[in-house]
Amino acid sequence: MASASGMPGKICSSSGNLTNQYVEFSCPKCNDSNIIRCDECRKTYTRYRCSKCGFEGP
Ligand SMILES: [Zn+2]
Ligand SMILES: [Zn+2]
Repeated sequence: MASASGMPGKICSSSGNLTNQYVEFSCPKCNDSNIIRCDECRKTYTRYRCSKCGFEGP
């Protein structure tokens, strides 16, 4: 019973929550950074911030 097959889900770029319901897309500005957005943040339109160029967007 040793199955460490990685955690399901990712860390949301907006809220920092671990989520397995998310969308993943590259930053619309620099196109160089992956943005993870959890379902919760999508519903509430929480802003995200690109860690590379600092772009903020809904
Ligand atoms: Zn979130
Ligand atoms: Zn960016």
